[in-house]
Amino acid sequence: MSRETRVFSMSALALGLVFASGVASAQDAKTVIQNAQQAMGKPNNIQYSGTGTAGGVGQNWNPNVPWHKTAVTKYTRIIDYANGSSTEDMTRTQENPPDKGGEAPFAGEQHVVAMVSGDTAWNRIQVAADVGSVGALGNPQPAAAEERQLQIWLTPHGFLRAAAQGKATASEGTDGGKKVIIITFMDSNGHKIVGDIDDQNMVTKVSSWLPNPVLGDMLVETTFTDYKDFGGVKFPTHILQKEGGWPNLDLTVTDAKANIPNAFLQVAANAMGEGVPPVNVVAQKMADGVWFLGGGTHNSVLIEFKDYVAVVEAPLNDARSQGVMDQVKMLVPNKPIKYVFNTHHHFDHSGGLRAYVAAGATIITNEGNKAFYETAWKAPHTLQPDMLSQNPKPATFITFKDKYVLSDGTRTLEIYKLQGDNHNELMSIGYLPKEKILIEADDFTPPAEGAPPLVPMAMGFANNLYDNLQRLKLQVDMIAPLHGNPAPISTMLKVLGKTQAAALR
Ligand SMILES: [Zn+2]
Repeated sequence: MSRETRVFSMSALALGLVFASGVASAQDAKTVIQNAQQAMGKPNNIQYSGTGTAGGVGQNWNPNVPWHKTAVTKYTRIIDYANGSSTEDMTRTQENPPDKGGEAPFAGEQHVVAMVSGDTAWNRIQVAADVGSVGALGNPQPAAAEERQLQIWLTPHGFLRAAAQGKATASEGTDGGKKVIIITFMDSNGHKIVGDIDDQNMVTKVSSWLPNPVLGDMLVETTFTDYKDFGGVKFPTHILQKEGGWPNLDLTVTDAKANIPNAFLQVAANAMGEGVPPVNVVAQKMADGVWFLGGGTHNSVLIEFKDYVAVVEAPLNDARSQGVMDQVKMLVPNKPIKYVFNTHHHFDHSGGLRAYVAAGATIITNEGNKAFYETAWKAPHTLQPDMLSQNPKPATFITFKDKYVLSDGTRTLEIYKLQGDNHNELMSIGYLPKEKILIEADDFTPPAEGAPPLVPMAMGFANNLYDNLQRLKLQVDMIAPLHGNPAPISTMLKVLGKTQAAALR
């Protein structure tokens, strides 16, 4: 039975419409939770550590394989249930050989300490020894606050604690053929949380949903197996969490301690009260009728045709798309956005596509992405409704295998699928032959002034892009990158140690 069916039968019971023999009462929920807390322990805080693998959600090599995988070589998490705070200290390395797919390339160890307390999320400063680390002193992470906060209540003891405080209901069900009691409640931020408790009074699975710009109400499902006693508290030695159907964390727990001293987490002063920064779109003219739309972490490119305009890339989310579309209207009034070209399906590059569908634009994307978008976009978007969920309409696509040319006689945009791309199997580039402008995502980001040299993985992506430009015999003057700032092709050639004598100018 699916979650949805279970929930339906419970609400139907509440309405007195159906009597299902397997449904327990709210009073029973209290008893079930108490019994589980008695069996598992009821700590105020917990610290657990282990090793495993992590998956970058929305960063898979193609839409049909699991999330991009990295090795978790060190992992320690401290959760203070009493104060609603968490510190997750994770060290990752690439798999050997590196898994194909997205996420920002890094070499060696990447050490990130992700924190949350109440509504405030931030990353801890990294010391100089942490080569390739991200984050800075109290580096605010407002966009991560919702998930980090929810994750506290998706741990076994956190689940029971929140369930005991919420208006939980209980019903009988099965999980993997075993009888379980299903406990359901809403957390204080409006997330539904559903957990299974087995006949040993152990929490074996907890599910909830988070808003995702591509997947809508995205299932977050965590299973807990191989419980052990750690000093009087039961804790699973295997934690597997899936987001959107694929593992984002697979952890083998080697140690757990309850009620450690000094678990209290002081909020980083500069992170307090930080909100998600407003959308900022800055237009930069690259040629007649061609504008680079930057101003944030991800760029788009606007191309004016005779009777319409086309936008290359719809990154991030609805809000970013709205900001870009507003800018488009200012730059080219009176011409509709007829097409949006999507370079690859990675969620940070496709999260804004739905807004263009709502605005009536046709999506140009590789044929391998279409079925994924069509399926994903059918999911409900109740947690964070967007323009398309408020005004539903089917998406229209133009797909291609290796090449597509958008032309009206006055302007031409050529689109090519790259070969041998380890960042995304279906990665495609845009090329304006008259203007000699290359539009590309993630394979080369022109380094900022004083930036460290590219790590080998990033060099590999850029070299492959170079090989494709040679293969396609594209004459490039300027790169319009979808991260970073426009740069002459010489910037890339210099980084790669290539000469100008190649087909590239
Ligand atoms: Zn990507």
